Amino acid sequence: MTPSQPPTPNPQPLLAERVLDKGFVQLTDFMGGDDAVVQAARASMAQGLKGEEKDKKLVFYLMEHNHMTPFEHAVFKWHVKCPIFVMRQWIRHRIGSFNEWSLRYSQTPDEFYVPSEFRAQDMKNKQGSVAAAAIDQKAELADYKSALDHAYQTYKKFLDRGVAREMARMVLPTALYTQFFWTVNARSLMNFLLLRAEAHAQWEMRQYAEILAKFFKMKMPWTWQAFLKFVWKGGNPVFDKEKRLLKTKG
Ligand SMILES: Cc1cc2nc3c(=O)[nH]c(=O)nc-3n(C[C@H](O)[C@H](O)[C@H](O)COP(=O)(O)OP(=O)(O)OC[C@H]3O[C@@H](n4cnc5c(N)ncnc54)[C@H](O)[C@@H]3O)c2cc1C
Repeated sequence: MTPSQPPTPNPQPLLAERVLDKGFVQLTDFMGGDDAVVQAARASMAQGLKGEEKDKKLVFYLMEHNHMTPFEHAVFKWHVKCPIFVMRQWIRHRIGSFNEWSLRYSQTPDEFYVPSEFRAQDMKNKQGSVAAAAIDQKAELADYKSALDHAYQTYKKFLDRGVAREMARMVLPTALYTQFFWTVNARSLMNFLLLRAEAHAQWEMRQYAEILAKFFKMKMPWTWQAFLKFVWKGGNPVFDKEKRLLKTKG
C-alpha cells in the first residue's frame, strides 16, 4: 500500500504567503466581515446596517466596551504549513477547530525548518532569545543539519524494514514541517494575535502571526483598527507603528 502524499495547497486561495524557509499561510475561506459584526450587534434591536460612519462607530464601541460576541460571526479558514514546534504552541488555542495531516497515513518528505540564524538564550527573559555575535553560526548549523539528517535516515530505515509509520515517526524532531486546517472566528483570532504577535512569543511563531494579522486587516479593516486602538498593548514594531499612525489620524 502506497502511503498518501502531503496535503496539496489550495491552488486558488483567497490570500497566501510564504513563511519561514518552507512554510506558508493560506486563507482558504472566509465568512462575514465588519458588516457581519454590525448586523450581529444590532440583531437584538431587529436593525441592520446604517451606513459606513455609524457602522464603523459601532464596531469601535463594541471593542472598547468588550462586547465581543458579535465578532464571533466572522470566520476564517486557514491552511498552514509550519514546523511541529510552532504548531504545538498554536494548538493550545482551544477556541477554534483544527485538523492536522497525519504521519500514520503518510510518509513525510525530508522537510525540516532550517533557521537563517541561531539565537542565544536571553539571560533576562527565561523563555526568550537574543541575537548574539558569540554564536558560531557555521558550527551550530552543521550540527543541526547532521542531527536532522541522522533522524531522517533512521526514519527511512525503519520504514524500509517494515516498521509501522506511526512508530517510525517517533524519531522525527519538532523542526519537521506539518500542515493543518484551522477554522477560527475573529474574536478568537484577535486573542491569538494579542498573544502570538507580541514580543514574548517565539520569533518563528510571530512570523506566522504577522501574516495572519495582515490578512485579517484586509478582510476586516474596521475591526483591525478597533483591535489596535483598544486591545493591542504593544510589543510588535509593525502593529505599534500602525497604532501610532491611527492615533495621529484621530
Ligand atoms: C508567550 C507565551 C508563553 C507561553 N508559555 C506557556 C508555557 O510555558 N506552558 C504552557 O502550558 N502554556 C504556555 N503558553 C500557552 C498559554 O498558556 C495558552 O494556553 C495559550 O496562549 C492559549 O491562550 P488562550 O487560553 O487565551 O486561548 P484559547 O484556548 O483559544 O481560549 C480563548 C479564551 O477562551 C476562554 N477559555 C478557553 N478555555 C477556557 C476554560 N477552560 N476555562 C475558562 N475560560 C476558557 C479564555 O478567556 C481564553 O482566553 C504560553 C503562551 C504564550 C503566548
